[in-house]
Amino acid sequence: MTSSTKRDYYEILGVPRNASQEEIKKAYRRLVRKYHPDICKKPECEEKFKEINEAYQVLSDPEKRKLYDMYGHAAFEGTAAQNVETNIPPIEEIFKEFFEGIPFDFETIFERATGRRRGRRRRAAQGEDIVIPVEISLEEAFKGTSIPLTIERYILCEECRGTGYDTASAKTCPTCGGRGEIVQGNWFFQVRQTCPTCGGEGRVYDECKVCYGKGTVKKKENIKVKIPPGVRHGSKLVVEGKGHAGRYGGTSGNLYIVINLKPHKIFERKGDDLYIDVNITFPEAVLGTEIEVPTIDGGKVKVKIPPGTREGSIIKVSGKGMPRLKDSSRGDMYVRVHIDVPKYNVFSKLLGDGKKAEELLKQLQEVLPKPERIVER
Ligand SMILES: [Zn+2]
Ligand SMILES: [Zn+2]
Repeated sequence: MTSSTKRDYYEILGVPRNASQEEIKKAYRRLVRKYHPDICKKPECEEKFKEINEAYQVLSDPEKRKLYDMYGHAAFEGTAAQNVETNIPPIEEIFKEFFEGIPFDFETIFERATGRRRGRRRRAAQGEDIVIPVEISLEEAFKGTSIPLTIERYILCEECRGTGYDTASAKTCPTCGGRGEIVQGNWFFQVRQTCPTCGGEGRVYDECKVCYGKGTVKKKENIKVKIPPGVRHGSKLVVEGKGHAGRYGGTSGNLYIVINLKPHKIFERKGDDLYIDVNITFPEAVLGTEIEVPTIDGGKVKVKIPPGTREGSIIKVSGKGMPRLKDSSRGDMYVRVHIDVPKYNVFSKLLGDGKKAEELLKQLQEVLPKPERIVER
């Protein structure tokens, strides 16, 4: 690049010409977080950051800044150009410079700056649970069933075996030079600590190209879930370990199947018991009868309606309810009895053989004992 096409260094850093060293540092730090190739993956960032770095190299050095102020870019052309380092320093180096002398947790700084972790010290994270609602009929809940499901879950990345690293990319750690520890302080007071970049391993790796460092990849899986007889609405079935895979050695989450019971056409469920509603005629209620009632197992059962059965009476049929989850017994079925009142049509009186029925009812009304009109509590 010649001096004529090069952008002004102050402009690049976005600082005024009389900016203090502190302001220049601050501006640079802000730009590092935005454009450093370790953070920004867009190709234009690398070029941009080279420019930023060069501007900072000059303006942060009082000697070079003075020359630049006097001669502009021409000051560093020719032999003087070697004085400006144009290579991009690793982000660790940049932050190290800023934090030199202060004990620091580099990992935290790096994480904050890049939003990702590096080195061996990735924290194990438990996999998330997967919750899938499943709708079944009452008959299926009675018999139990097996439901095929397609779930999309994170599984361990096969490429890196869940580590998130591309092991073939091993390089000597730039922070510790492969020694696995760093020394901080001055010549008479030194602190050795495990290198935070590589966690003491002395090597760093690129991210796995398949999972981008996550250690897990998404995969569709077909599974069959067994629904035991007797499940209730809202029951949560656990399939352990079938949730998302954990990361960096964390345990897998669970798969939860939440049962949604479709309402049934004739049965109402209360716990392990079933309720069914039946209609009888008034004479049947008075004289008693025997009716046939369907059961949830697909069969039928005869139910005795005793003479004098009243509206809303409930008759228990033992052992014809839902299977109990804890043992092999079954709940009960309850038959709710309703006394049907024949539909009355204003034009042809009673529906069906209305004329005859009406006559008989009138005769019946004459002979029936009158009830107490007001009901006592
Ligand atoms: Zn290291
Ligand atoms: Zn991977």
